[in-house]
Amino acid sequence: MKLLLSTPSLVHAAHCQNVLEAAGIRADLRNTWLAGAMGDIPFRESAPQVWLIDDEREAEAWEVLHAAANPAPGPRWACASCGEWHDAQFGSCWQCGAPRQP
Ligand SMILES: [Zn+2]
Repeated sequence: MKLLLSTPSLVHAAHCQNVLEAAGIRADLRNTWLAGAMGDIPFRESAPQVWLIDDEREAEAWEVLHAAANPAPGPRWACASCGEWHDAQFGSCWQCGAPRQP
């Protein structure tokens, strides 16, 4: 387990975890319940964190996150199963796991 990033935004942390999981990289979300205590304990320890399960996939994880922040050219697509929208680089739905339909 390795701390990949911490962010003041739980939404951002959850998004990063979703992006990683969608790419097949296992990640854990931590400190999702501590946000209310911010100010009482140091930020680094209270901010939502994304932890990498497989340490050796860190470089790959950052590649995936950077790709998500700078979407590949191409149309976004909607999941045929649940209707969730995805950027072009994703091959399957992060929400329900359904593969992208051609
Ligand atoms: Zn879906």
